[in-house]
Amino acid sequence: MINVSENISRILEEIPSGVKLIPISKTKPDEMILSAWGDGFKVFGENKVQDLSRKYEKLPKDIEWHMVGHMQTNKVKYLASFVHLIHGVDSFKLMKIMNKEALKAGRIMNGLLQIHIAEEETKFGFSEDEVRSILDSTEFWNLKNIRISGLMGMATNTSDVRQVKAEFGKLKRLQEDLNSSYFSSDNSFREVSMGMSGDYKIAIEEGSTMIRIGSLIFGSRN
Ligand SMILES: *Cc1c(COP(=O)(O)O)cnc(C)c1O
Repeated sequence: MINVSENISRILEEIPSGVKLIPISKTKPDEMILSAWGDGFKVFGENKVQDLSRKYEKLPKDIEWHMVGHMQTNKVKYLASFVHLIHGVDSFKLMKIMNKEALKAGRIMNGLLQIHIAEEETKFGFSEDEVRSILDSTEFWNLKNIRISGLMGMATNTSDVRQVKAEFGKLKRLQEDLNSSYFSSDNSFREVSMGMSGDYKIAIEEGSTMIRIGSLIFGSRN
């Protein structure tokens, strides 16, 4: 039997206090989330809008929900009223729709800009140049109902530790650079969401502020 609370506690004990753990409960049953919730763990992440909104409806309302998967623009409306953070903001169109839906819901939607740092072609995300041109536009700064507080990225799925380290290091340096270039008045661009079950230790060494851990907490997925 997998003890979710024990697994979360073990990771919390080992990571620095400045790193936030987001347990990723995707594909896992409500009961597993509920048992951890009963032990006081109230932050979870999902990668599909449909699962996230169903779990939000069904489970206690004080859970802080993170959306970590690819976000389709036509589905923002299902999350706008409650989601805590969208980790994978990967287009300007998505930002504009988040802004519109957040305005309707009377709140601010939080997001991280996903950067393509891996070798693999299939992963979503901006290039450095694309992010800079967005941050250079006045249109971005006029989106008052979104708050973009940092970057997110996924390293290449490889056993080459040096490569993973280099990719995470690059993401961290970009976050620091963008923070000082564009957010120097309040240092509000401070998050770097990087690190999963297989590479979170390397990510923390490279300056991660949020790790997204699924299988190490909930067991492997089929
Ligand atoms: C599934 C997922 C995770 C967690 O993956 P594990 O390897 O099970 O820890 C983290 N981030 C994203 C974006 C995911 O889709």
